[in-house]
Amino acid sequence: MMDTPNTASTFDVEALRGQFPALQQTVNGKPLVYLDNAATTQKPLCVIDAVNQFYRLDNANIHRGVHALSARATEHYEAAREQIRHSLNAAAVEEIVFVRGTTEAINLVAASFGQRLKAGDEILISALEHHANIVPWHMLRERIGIVLKVIPVTDLGALDLSALPALITSRTRLVAVNHVSNALGTINPVQEICAQAHAHGVPVLVDGAQGLPHGLVDVQAMGCDFYAMSGHKAFGPSGVGALYARRPWLDELPPYQGGGDMIETVCFDAVRYAPPPAKFEAGTPNIEGAIGLKAALAWHAGLDWPSITAYEAQLLAAATAGLKEIPGLRIIGTAACKVPVVSFVIAGCHPHDIGTLLDAMGIAVRTGQHCAMPVLAQLGAPSGTVRASFAFYNNTDEVTALIRAVHRAHALLS
Ligand code: PLP
Repeated sequence: MMDTPNTASTFDVEALRGQFPALQQTVNGKPLVYLDNAATTQKPLCVIDAVNQFYRLDNANIHRGVHALSARATEHYEAAREQIRHSLNAAAVEEIVFVRGTTEAINLVAASFGQRLKAGDEILISALEHHANIVPWHMLRERIGIVLKVIPVTDLGALDLSALPALITSRTRLVAVNHVSNALGTINPVQEICAQAHAHGVPVLVDGAQGLPHGLVDVQAMGCDFYAMSGHKAFGPSGVGALYARRPWLDELPPYQGGGDMIETVCFDAVRYAPPPAKFEAGTPNIEGAIGLKAALAWHAGLDWPSITAYEAQLLAAATAGLKEIPGLRIIGTAACKVPVVSFVIAGCHPHDIGTLLDAMGIAVRTGQHCAMPVLAQLGAPSGTVRASFAFYNNTDEVTALIRAVHRAHALLS
C-alpha cells in the first residue's frame, strides 16, 4: 500500500466530496476545511443511510432470535464480518473479531496473550506508538513484570530498523508496532518487521488504526499475526472496529471477557466456550456500527486507490512546501514514506493558540500530543504540535486555505 507515486493524478475529488454531507457546511462563517482526519474521518452518505436503514427497518438483537428482524440483523452483522475479512484480505471470516476499535483490539490481545506471559518476558514496541499501543503493555509490566523494549526512531521520525536484530532476543514474546503513525504520518515497514520477527519465531501485532484510511490492506501479504482497526478512522461509525488474528491464535488464546454469546454451554461447575470469533465477543455488540462499517468498507474497496495514493502524495507535497515557507515553522516528522499528515510547531507560538485561530477561520486541525507523548518529546515538541491530517476528500483549495491561515495566525501571535 501507499507507495510514493510518480504519475499525475486523475482523481475526481469534487465528485467524491459531494458524498460527504458534513463537508458541505460553514463553520464560524467560513467554509469548513476539515483537516482532523487522523482523529476521525467524516462519513459518506452510504454509511449514514445504512445505519438509518437498520434503525428504521431491521433493528433487533442478533444471534438469539427466531423472528424475522433478528434473522435480518444477524445476516447483516455477519455480512459485515465478511466485508472486513475481504477488506483486510484475511484467509477466513472466523479470523475477524468485532471490537470497539483499535484500543479495545490491542487491550484484548494484551489481556488474553498476556495470560501466557511471565516476569522477564519481553514485548517489543516502537518509539512511534500511540498510547493505545503503549499503555496496555505497561499495565502488563505493572501486573506481571514483563519487560517493555522500544525500537528507536530517527530524528526524521522513521523507525530505526538497524536496531531491530539486537532488540529481538530469546525472551521476546511479541512485537507490536503501528502501520502508520498518527502523530507524524510515517508509514512503517511492517512487512519487513513481520519477516524479521517471524525469523525468530516471534508473532507481530500491527496497530492499523491509520492504515485503511490511506489504502488497501492485505494482512496475509503483510504477514502479521494480529491487525487492529477502528471503523471511525476509515469512514465508518465510531465504537466499532475489528481485530484480525490468525486462526491458530484465536483457538489457542483464552477469552477476553465473559458473558452471553461467547459460550456453548454454561453450568455452575463448568463453562464451555464457543469457537472463535464468538469466544471473544461477549454481550450485545455494536450491531448498527458493524452495519455502517460494512457500508464504509464496501465503498472504500471500490475506490480508485492508485489514483488516490497519487493524489494524497500531491496534497502532502503541497502542504509541506507551503508550510515550510512560514518563518520559524518546523515540521515534526519528515520521513521519506508518509501519508498526508503534517505536524508542525512555530517558534514562539503555542500549538493551541494556532489551532484556536485556525478554527475561527473555519479550519479544523488537532493540537497537542496526539496520544504520542514519547515521540513528540524525542523530536523536540514536548508541548505538542499542530497537526493537519488530510483525507482524499480534501482538495488543493483547502491546502491553500491552511497555508494562508497559518501565515495569518503566525502574524497575529508574533
Ligand atoms: N493507534 C493509532 C495509531 C491511532 O491513531 C489511534 C487513534 O487515534 C488509536 C490507536 C486508537 O484508536 P481508537 O481510539 O479508535 O481506539
